[in-house]
Amino acid sequence: MSLYHGRHYLAIPGPSVMPDRVLQAMHQAAPNIYEGALHDMVNGMIPDLKRVAKSSGEVAIYICNGHGTWEASLTNTLSRGDKVLALATGRFVLFWAKMAESLGVEVDLIDFGKSSPVDLDMVAARLKADSEHRYKAIMVTQTDTASTARNDIEALGECIRSTGHPALYMVDSMASLGCEPFEMDRWGVDLMVAGSQKGLMTPPGLGFMFFNQRVIEAREKANMVTPYWDFLPRINPQVFYEYFFGTAPTHHLFGLREALTILLEEEGLEEAWARHAKLSRAVWAAFDAWGQNSSIRLNIKNPKFRSHAVTAISMDAPHATELRRWTEKKAGVTLGIGLGMAERTDPAYHGFFRVAHMGHVNAHMTLGMLAVIDAGLKALNIPHGDGALSAASQVVSEA
Ligand SMILES: *Cc1c(COP(=O)(O)O)cnc(C)c1O
Repeated sequence: MSLYHGRHYLAIPGPSVMPDRVLQAMHQAAPNIYEGALHDMVNGMIPDLKRVAKSSGEVAIYICNGHGTWEASLTNTLSRGDKVLALATGRFVLFWAKMAESLGVEVDLIDFGKSSPVDLDMVAARLKADSEHRYKAIMVTQTDTASTARNDIEALGECIRSTGHPALYMVDSMASLGCEPFEMDRWGVDLMVAGSQKGLMTPPGLGFMFFNQRVIEAREKANMVTPYWDFLPRINPQVFYEYFFGTAPTHHLFGLREALTILLEEEGLEEAWARHAKLSRAVWAAFDAWGQNSSIRLNIKNPKFRSHAVTAISMDAPHATELRRWTEKKAGVTLGIGLGMAERTDPAYHGFFRVAHMGHVNAHMTLGMLAVIDAGLKALNIPHGDGALSAASQVVSEA
């Protein structure tokens, strides 16, 4: 017997759960792209996007996934032969840095491993040692979606300023924007990239790059600017099509408009941050209980450095893969694969998984997902501690 039939829940860190209203907003005939309501909607969305990032600077919208915005961030600000400092706390900065290298940028990498945040003292020392200011940019993720380590972007900003280093501070907030606090202006972030399919609850396909005046000045000197990725026409369009350098992604925009209304006007950004923080604590409480006298472990030990949107877990292989298969086939919940912890061909690969609590997710979805994991652990005779569901509901019950 399967208990699969019912509403399927994709509990992976993007694409995230989309509100029905976002999907319904997309379900309409193509609009007039030359004039009228679509233009008004896009003009009105720009300030709302900046509100999500707490930015008084600019935002360029691209028709792409997150990788596209990485390319935009590099080509608009750097020249071949420039040097950057990449701070890796999992997988994603490694990919971003590799892209920089393939464009001809020299990358200095500090790799903090697969389960730790950035060490500020190490960064400060490296920046002070760069007395000639060769680093043109510092690249970091707010949340690394593979390790689920969360960096303190405010503290890193203070650290960079304390050294007086002028490098652009570039942050990948793909997996955290709309899920946890981000204050672009106040924290001194120069450039931030994000995508539509995570905290913004919209299908994959829109990428966002937020930036300030320092980035606009860097673009003047950059020798890798290409026509499609150039942000300048996009932030100052003389005609509507320049927003997107071609046909507008009409239906994605309808969806995003609805998502921004839900996030900003109905729930409120700070409330959404608080919801993610609470649900993540419920998830951790469950895994802490399951981890008693078993191999089940949260990948990030210190709660201060754990993502509020996604949680990485390890357990004896091959239990993680068995559990993912069970929850999907028997209960309609798809959990995330472990990413970057072991090669797919390595038996250890089957000892990692991730659960998302990202975007349009409420208490019953998170508690339901945890209950399904509990059932799977029992069905598969995977050793686990007791009391996980009670611990999670206790967290939810507290004000
Ligand atoms: C999802 C994600 C990306 C990449 O986004 P794609 O849309 O898959 O290209 C980059 N960085 C982080 C931190 C992410 O979570």
